[in-house]
Amino acid sequence: MRKRSFILLTFLVVSTVIAYLVYQEFFTSEDIYLKIEKNYYVSFNSKFVNLTIKLYGLTEGGKNITLEVFDGNSLVNSTNLFLTIGIKAVSFRLPYSIRNPLLKIRWDGKLKTIGIELNDKTIVRVEGRHIVLVIKKRNFDLFKDPLDWIRKLDMAYEAYAELVGDVPYNGAKIVIEEVDKYPGGWAVAGNPIKWYSPYIPDAIKQVNEGDWLFGILHEIGHDFDLDYRWVWNAEFSANFKMVYVAEKLKAKIKEYGVWYDYSDPNGKTLDDFYAMMAAKTGETNVLKDWLRHNDAATDKFLKVKNMIGWEPFKKTYRAWLNLSSDEIPKTPEGKLNLFVYYLCVFSGKDLTQQFIEWGFPISSETVTKVREVLGSQP
Ligand SMILES: [Zn+2]
Repeated sequence: MRKRSFILLTFLVVSTVIAYLVYQEFFTSEDIYLKIEKNYYVSFNSKFVNLTIKLYGLTEGGKNITLEVFDGNSLVNSTNLFLTIGIKAVSFRLPYSIRNPLLKIRWDGKLKTIGIELNDKTIVRVEGRHIVLVIKKRNFDLFKDPLDWIRKLDMAYEAYAELVGDVPYNGAKIVIEEVDKYPGGWAVAGNPIKWYSPYIPDAIKQVNEGDWLFGILHEIGHDFDLDYRWVWNAEFSANFKMVYVAEKLKAKIKEYGVWYDYSDPNGKTLDDFYAMMAAKTGETNVLKDWLRHNDAATDKFLKVKNMIGWEPFKKTYRAWLNLSSDEIPKTPEGKLNLFVYYLCVFSGKDLTQQFIEWGFPISSETVTKVREVLGSQP
């Protein structure tokens, strides 16, 4: 008995915290305890309200339970189940347009009615092929066409995979989740990508203008640095890869109020953006800090991309993926040198002098290795 009370108390404490976080509802009596999770669900081929009811049986012997969902006075869905000690979960798909769902629970001649609140804070789960957006209803409703944006992010995911040759999180969908607690930036990479709630409405306005959204493409870019094995500066690495995505998909991106529109043959590109950033810090010709001035460094790598194309970069990322952990350089300089070495090998061009002129610390060993490999080629 004491153990059971303790379990119940634990349920209550844990559930209260969760209820606060994700707007769950729960109900408890001496013989059953239940938790209700609800969200809107939208995908390319369906939309509905998802209701999941988790029942925790607290007494031995078991009991018959009937669950009914009403919309006002009309019965929408119902099910019967037999609950013994343990947990059972039941999910209902309710019409997306449902207004005031009521859950009625009947057991042992008892009846409990719970009003389920769907409001502007209820979470909407927008499910794409690779990307899932988890966002409050009031923000979701600001989108002109949320699935159009999810489709763009799905395509971006595929382009990143094509560039580096692998996917993060073993291919699990990447969730972009609205968070109320400041995650440490406008958005923060990972799975989920945490997107700070107060910034979302303005971002959606930009999406409605056709913007693919630099910030979110950038965070997905971080996720495609996989275990960061080739990364000497994370911002450089995320942004550089993003340019491939923008070029490949003819994306339209607004940054600092300026459009970089790859669908317009005369439009500015991110190459222009990074050239401008390098000029701003006086690093058009030589870097002042190759490691920390990531925008100026991105400008130089984009110039290399324009000389040799993306293929040597694709081969470079794949070569890194084939390294065993003890072959991966540990220092930023070591990573840079191996990266440039691969670019030279796969492009068949000695780029070392160009990188040295720009102020990158390319070692004499790398220069020698590149000359040996390229010199021996027919
Ligand atoms: Zn970043």
